[in-house]
Amino acid sequence: MTNIEIIEKLDAVHTADNSELAQLISTITDNELEVLRQTAQKCAQKHFGNKVFIRGLIEISSICKNDCYYCGIRKSNKNAVRYRLSKEQILDCCEQGYKLGFRTFVMQGGEDGYFTDEIMCDIISSIKQKYPDCAVTLSLGERSRESYQRLYDAGADRYLLRHETANKEHYSKLHPQIMTLKGRKQCLLNLKEIGFQTGAGFMVGSPYQSIGTICEDLRFIEQLAPQMCGIGPFVPHKDTIFKNERSGSVRLCLVLLSVIRLMNPNILLPATTALGTVDPIGREKGILHGANVVMPNLSPSEHRKDYSLYDNKLCTGDEAAESLKTLSEKLKKIGYQIVVDRGDYKGNH
Ligand code: SAH
Repeated sequence: MTNIEIIEKLDAVHTADNSELAQLISTITDNELEVLRQTAQKCAQKHFGNKVFIRGLIEISSICKNDCYYCGIRKSNKNAVRYRLSKEQILDCCEQGYKLGFRTFVMQGGEDGYFTDEIMCDIISSIKQKYPDCAVTLSLGERSRESYQRLYDAGADRYLLRHETANKEHYSKLHPQIMTLKGRKQCLLNLKEIGFQTGAGFMVGSPYQSIGTICEDLRFIEQLAPQMCGIGPFVPHKDTIFKNERSGSVRLCLVLLSVIRLMNPNILLPATTALGTVDPIGREKGILHGANVVMPNLSPSEHRKDYSLYDNKLCTGDEAAESLKTLSEKLKKIGYQIVVDRGDYKGNH
């Protein structure tokens, strides 16, 4: 099959064989990528029109008990500046965000033992009480099924937990032994079963990634059928063992955004901060390749630089929630409109 035929197949039946995916991803030319892009953009527009959903990202803690090899806030990084937001600080972020037009708040953080179920449930129910028209998304890493259930019962709507890679060997090259792909997958299954709108995802160009592991990622997403999928380029952090590795490619990331859009037509797909970090117009490019979500930073400005997952992570400029207006204008220029809406998943699973 030619690459164009593979693109047509993805558009028509939303799947392709591993060999077809591998061929497309590894040999796509610039002209073919433009066809892929337009096909993915049309697919996104069919489901979402010219709307882009926004999420206010609140980075609640840079303290983490895990030691993921790629991550700047890993436990063993002695140079990381650690902070933790109080409930009041989190509610202040929501207040500011609400005024700016955010109707989804994403609380993300390292795996910080301070945020027990009791403390998180209290924060979640306070947010839901004050902003009943808003969705609460959590991204707090791996917890027990019982814990996820409690957070859900307290009112949390969505949970982001990237699988990072669907290949077992690859997973073990990115994480210490006590973290397993099996455990990560089980968490995702639990989240889905409980009823969360669930997000999986992976880094593009992480060390030891191959075309083969990427095909496994695409297949995993197809099978899990999450409501959301976050992908962005890997970016090295100076205090990790991957400090001398290269950043993931923007082009490959854009190819994969388009492929994921075609394989999962109504999935919520962000143009991520990492994409905006490695390319000044990465966010816009992501939207034009089929993404439909952006997640500006709502964290208190004095702490933003300390949630340092990778070097030069954007947290100001268009990435900052305060600058929603300029982001909105930039998206308008490429034909898109930011909406004040929870932006829930509209599919049937
Ligand atoms: N503790 C939470 C949140 C992790 S940070 C959890 O485990 O889910 C959110 C995401 O940032 C991670 O899932 C990872 O895919 C991404 N990330 C971490 N380090 C990165 C790096 N160096 N480059 C690009 N993305 C990175």
